[in-house]
Order: sequence, then C-alpha cells, then structure tokens
Amino acid sequence: MTEYEKEWFEKDYYAILGVTESASSKEVKSRYRKLARELHPDSNPGDARAEERFKEVSAAYDVIGDDDKRAKYDEVRKMGPIGPMFRGAGGGAPGPGAGQFNVGMDDIGDLLGGLFNRGGRGRGQPGAARGQRGSDIAVDLSLQFDDAVNGLETTITLTSEATCAGCDGMGSAPGTAPSKCESCDGRGIHDENQGLFSFSRPCQSCGGRGSVITSPCTNCRGSGVEVRPREVKVRIPAGVKTGQKVRLKQRGGPGHGGGPPGDLFVHVTVEPHEMFGRSGSDLTVEVPITFAEATLGAKVKVPTLNGEAVKIRIPPGTVSGKTFRLKGRGGTGDLLVTVAVVVPQELSREQRQAVEAFAKATTESPRAHLGL
Ligand SMILES: [Zn+2]
Ligand SMILES: [Zn+2]
Repeated sequence: MTEYEKEWFEKDYYAILGVTESASSKEVKSRYRKLARELHPDSNPGDARAEERFKEVSAAYDVIGDDDKRAKYDEVRKMGPIGPMFRGAGGGAPGPGAGQFNVGMDDIGDLLGGLFNRGGRGRGQPGAARGQRGSDIAVDLSLQFDDAVNGLETTITLTSEATCAGCDGMGSAPGTAPSKCESCDGRGIHDENQGLFSFSRPCQSCGGRGSVITSPCTNCRGSGVEVRPREVKVRIPAGVKTGQKVRLKQRGGPGHGGGPPGDLFVHVTVEPHEMFGRSGSDLTVEVPITFAEATLGAKVKVPTLNGEAVKIRIPPGTVSGKTFRLKGRGGTGDLLVTVAVVVPQELSREQRQAVEAFAKATTESPRAHLGL
C-alpha cells in the first residue's frame, strides 16, 4: 500500500470539505471554491491555522474532486475501520476487494499495525488501542464590532466535557491501574478465521483498549471525562462576521481510551456599530453633506474605525449616494464612504433668501427631457 493510500485510509476528506459522501461533483467543486476563497493565504496573511486548513482542503479536493481518485478513495475507505478488517493467512492471495489495489500481505499487516498503534511498540500492551475521538463542542461568542474587524485574543469560559481532574483522564481511581483484558489477552482485538482469511474485530469486553478498569475513579465513574467549567484561550482572526465559526483544533471534549480530543467551534455573533457597516471585507459609512458642498465641491472630514478622522475631497457636482473608496482605511479592507445630500427641514431667513435667489437664477428645468 502506498503512502498516499495510507493517508486516504486515515483521513476523512468528505468531513474536511464538509460535504456528504453522496455529494455530486458539482457540489464538491463549489464547496471547495468557497473554502479556498475563505482560507487562501492571501486573504489570511500570517494566519497559520487558516494556512494549515487551506492545505488540508486542497489535499482533500485533490482526491474528492477527481472522479477516478474519488472512486478509489471510496473503495479504500470501505476496507477501513468501518468494515471488517481482513488479512491473509499463510501467504495466500489478497482478499477480494483488496486485490484491485494490489495490496500485499506486508502492507495489510502494516495497515493493521497502524490501526491499532501496535507496530513495533509492544504488541498487546494494555492501552495500545487507538481509542475514540472526543466530542466536538460548540460555543457562542458575541463580539464588539471593532474586535470583529480587528481580531482579538480572548478567554472563553464554558462548561463542557473535560479531562477528569480526579484521575487525570485515566479512569482508574488514584493509586490503581487498569488491568489486562482477559477476554482478548490485552490485544484489543479478536481474530476470527474464515477459510483463507482471518478477520480482526475490536474486543467487545474492553472496547478495543486491551485493558479494563477494575477500580473506577469515583469522580468520573471510570470514563476519564467529567463536565466542569473551564477556560479556553481563543484567537479570533480579523474580519470575522456573524455566523462564522472559528475552529480550535483539539480543544473540544477529551478523547476516550487514548483517542484525540474533539474540536471546539466558536460561533461568532458581531454587535452592530452605530456608524459603520460592512460590505465584504470593507467597512461602510454614510456621510451627510449639504447641497452647497455637493454642488460646489468641498473637503469633508469622515470618521474611521480607529477614531482618527480623514479628510476627503468631494468634487463639484457630486450626486447623493456616490461612494468614495478610502484604501486601507477599513480594518482589513477599505473604507467605503457614501455621501448623502441633506435637504434642510427648516431654513433661517438668510438661507431662504439664498435658496430663493438660486431658484430665480435656475432657468433650465431638470425635467425637460420628460417632455413636460
Ligand atoms: Zn476520573
Ligand atoms: Zn479485550
């Protein structure tokens, strides 16, 4: 079995792309494009997590996005931990289903060794099994507008599954140790001979761990997991929006029987800002101007998110609703300034005289083209 096929065996490319196994190639493609856009290093400079995820997603698409490779991948996965595992007995031909991938005996031995983590590291040791991955945990986080735009590091307190403090996750009462599973003699698997092949199945008595807890920890009843409040440090990347999920790898529920922890997903909600809005990666702001400023042109001050005012030049004849782009002034993007011409609701005597004089001097109707 080649390196890449081993990788196929271990990685769930469907989960990485967030599509189902029955997703059409069109769905896979559009999902990949969306992820690639979001995670591209150019859009996330210096974000190592996004970069790592970008690589994962690219590797997954390399397989799932190619019909031939995908079909092979599906086959390889069928041979995986979900289905029965087989290995040849006495150097016979590879089993049905394995043959089409030219999987040799040694390779399958390798594969099993990898699966049970038994390789050269002491066959049959208690606790040598792969264990079960911890649960993914979701937590809500409400962010101030500024923090969402600029990114921040914060600490979230959540109550969730955590490694039991009483036994440090081992499941055994302090001072005691798990003993070897008698049913499988500590191997974590049972072999069943069927003709040429012997199938290996995880041991039911010990859940494949090879060991059993004889004196369970009273705090967690032997599960190694308890529910308690804990604090998690979170780095929120700049530019997050309401509805986005920030994934913290392996910060979810603890694994069971030596399995890896699950992930923590932080669901972000962003508080609205009284002045600023967002459009893609840009910020937006509406700036009122007078009729005179719009007509004659003016230099007006506009606010930016960091509190510093910036002057922009409004050219003569600017229409209401025109948008000016201020490069690099909107957090991770630009600031889009949309001007709104204000119509005065009350006029002083001078203002009224001035407007009346303007009306008198205006001879052409703006409605001439309507033929009225
Ligand atoms: Zn415990
Ligand atoms: Zn057992």
